[in-house]
Amino acid sequence: IQSKLPGVSTTIFSVMSKLAAEHNAINLSQGFPDYPCDPKLTELVNKAMNNGFNQYAPMPGNNFLKERIAEKVKNLYSVKYNPDTEITVTAGGTQAIFTALTAIINPGDEVIIFEPAYDCYAPTIKLLGGLVKTYELAPPDYSIDWDMVKKLFTSSTRMIILNSPQNPTGSILSEDDMKSLVKLISGTDILILSDEVYEHLIYDGQEHKSVMLFPELRKRSFIIASFGKLLHATGWKLGYCLAPEQLTKEFRKVHQFNVFSVNSPMQQAIADYIQEPSNYTGITNFFENKRNYFRGLLAESRFELLPCNGSYFQCASYSKISNEKDTDFSMRLIKEFGVATIPVSAFYQKATDHKIIRFCFAKENLTLQLAAEKLKNV
Ligand code: PMP
Ligand code: GLN
Repeated sequence: IQSKLPGVSTTIFSVMSKLAAEHNAINLSQGFPDYPCDPKLTELVNKAMNNGFNQYAPMPGNNFLKERIAEKVKNLYSVKYNPDTEITVTAGGTQAIFTALTAIINPGDEVIIFEPAYDCYAPTIKLLGGLVKTYELAPPDYSIDWDMVKKLFTSSTRMIILNSPQNPTGSILSEDDMKSLVKLISGTDILILSDEVYEHLIYDGQEHKSVMLFPELRKRSFIIASFGKLLHATGWKLGYCLAPEQLTKEFRKVHQFNVFSVNSPMQQAIADYIQEPSNYTGITNFFENKRNYFRGLLAESRFELLPCNGSYFQCASYSKISNEKDTDFSMRLIKEFGVATIPVSAFYQKATDHKIIRFCFAKENLTLQLAAEKLKNV
């Protein structure tokens, strides 16, 4: 059979988590919490099931949940999204990304991504016959020179994918970045897919600059969010997509034939839960403390920590420790030192050798402490 995705193998997150289990290593690779989500939340799922939320939810999402999402967005950013026509509940951020791209990208369309990039963007674009145009971000700060981005524009440029706070680098887009993008994109019909799943995970008092805050960007953007991150429940695979009515119409044309609708009792439970904002507003401090704690622990190691302004990932250079490729180095970390990480080369399409690995710090402090003790021996 002729593969539609030659060169693509099993995602690095599955590979590393499996290896971590096989070698009994502490798993700081795949991004997910190792502590339970709020028991109030799971009780609300039981309540929803007992109250009869066991059949198909409405295709675009539970109405009550869409209203709560609209309220949350308005409270955070003072921007109104219409729950009926501009908000769709999805099976996590991944399905929302896949659906938005499928709704828009035709064969030959070009999509600009910033690498290192979350691993689902490029394969999805290719599956649709689109062409990936890559802007390479450089360590340690991974900043963007927007004049160079402009050089990637052609008459076939259809979309730009943004991701702030960024996975894996923990970098964020500033107000100046967004203003540069506004200038660049005004007068074009280029659309934006803004992956904002880490919107709350932004540190040191910095504010998340959502594309929705810029009318020129908002009108052309699909914004992706994930309840997995917000509620420490990545296994629930629930999220949503915000987009202006015309874009949402196209999004739902695909969504209805892809999943039709998503998990009903959990949607109802999340709606009840996020009705009370104090159930999630502590998440920023919670993860900022984890970042600080983990960075403090690793300060005693030979790893050189890169900046981490957001997300629950900490990147580190091991160039003072070893000359190995990051894939080899991370294998050795698992086997010899008992800690699983992600080699950052996995976030690039072409071969790279920056000697950087990614740690996930969405873990119990004890887990981080035990991992750091092992990492100090490296
Ligand atoms: N985008 C980014 C940048 C991510 O890190 C992730 C995964 N955690 C997703 C999208 C997908 O989110 P979900 O687990 O809700 O599908
Ligand atoms: N987003 C998570 C990470 O970057 C994992 C998502 C997944 O396993 N697909 O680690």
